[in-house]
Parts: sequence; structure tokens; C-alpha cells
Amino acid sequence: MPQFESESLVLKSYNLAEADRIVVFFTRDHGIVRGVAKGAKRLKSRFGSTLEPFSNVELTYFQKDDRELVSIQHVELNRSLFDSASDPEFLNTLAYVADLLIAFMPPHDPSEKVYRMTKACVEASRDGTPDLASVRLYFELWMLRLGGYLPDWSLCGECGRDLATIENVSLRPDHHLICANCSPPVRLTPIGRGHRRLFHDVQKLSPPEFLRAAGDEREAVLEISSILRRIIAQILGRDLIKPIELAVVS
Ligand SMILES: [Zn+2]
Repeated sequence: MPQFESESLVLKSYNLAEADRIVVFFTRDHGIVRGVAKGAKRLKSRFGSTLEPFSNVELTYFQKDDRELVSIQHVELNRSLFDSASDPEFLNTLAYVADLLIAFMPPHDPSEKVYRMTKACVEASRDGTPDLASVRLYFELWMLRLGGYLPDWSLCGECGRDLATIENVSLRPDHHLICANCSPPVRLTPIGRGHRRLFHDVQKLSPPEFLRAAGDEREAVLEISSILRRIIAQILGRDLIKPIELAVVS
């Protein structure tokens, strides 16, 4: 049975049998990996506290070709989030980011870019006090763009002209932005210039840079985020964010 090792982020875990847990990791080298941690529920488990959400760990596992679940051998803690874990909005945001990653990243399909992005967002959320709405927006937009669900919002989806300097732009049901000339007579959702700048910034800036830049734009961040959440719910056929979390957001 081949053995694999990778730096990883723990995304979530749930109970399997009496003493075992299933743990979902985002590994740097192998993408999303689900594994069984035997005995993890026991008081004196060899995994200790390494399986807490968003712990940064060195993971060792065995994988049989025909099995979706890998066998977790060893988990060594690089960095825990334990010190930040008392803030409910922080925990809700990380749980939401984990759900987005699990929903949009195919299993065993590595993306070093998304891994580094996730790690940087977690670090930035923990070390400073960024607006966590910006963290959510960052992932919503990236997951949609990487999955090919969201077209380029810098050009009109109909005539192709550059929207950078155009004021009246609206969102078509197919998620394209279109200029006023191409707009049908029915009323569409208008998307302001500030909102489009955020869209651009998410894709051009590193997580810490974006979190700093979006700090003063809370209202626009929440508005664009709610549009993206609607698109995500359409794609997945369900809402990822729970009402209790929305209550924290608003
Ligand atoms: Zn147009």
C-alpha cells in the first residue's frame, strides 16, 4: 500500500464508529483527502489535538487504489488555531471556507495556489483583526472563478467592451456583466464600480493585501458576497451558509 506525506490543513472531522473519526484534509500535494483516524475519539488518542479544524499539520497516510477513504497513519502539528478558537465568527468563517473548498475542489486534485491562498487567509485572520466578511468573499469569488462558474467581470458579456470606466452595469442571470447599451428592458441587478473593483482586487491581490484593501469597503463586500452566495447556492442546489452564521454576518 503506497504511503503519502504532505503538509496539510485539517478542514473538518466527524464521528465514524465508536472510537474513530473521518477527517477531511486539504493537503498541499494531493488536494482534498478524506481519511479514517482510528481511535481518534479515545481520550488518550495518538492524534492528540492535531485534528482540530484548520490546524496546520504534517500528514502521513496510506492509500489503497480502490478506496475513497485513506488510512491516516501519523499527524504532526505544525501550528494550531487553538488560541483564536473562542471567536464564533472566526470559527463560522473557517467552517464556511472549509465547506466551500470541499464543495468546489475535486478530491485528490492538488492546487498549490489554492492551498497557499487558504493558509495565508487563515494566518491573516488569526494574526490581525481583518473583516472576516472579506475572507468569505475572497473564497467565494476564487472558488467560482476557478470552477469556471463566473465569467470575467471586466468586460461586457454581450459586446465585449471594457467596463472599467462605465458606470451603469448590470448582472445577467447567466452571471455575465453587461453594459447599459446591451441591457434588456427587464430590470437586472446593478453592479457598481466599487463592487467591480473588489472583484478585480480579489484576483490581483494576495490575501493579506486584499484584506487590508477591503477593510474600508464593508458594505460593498457584504453586497457582493450575498450575490456570490446566491450563485453558489444555485450551482450546489443548497445554501452553504447557515442562518445562524448569517445572523453573525449582518
Ligand atoms: Zn455591451
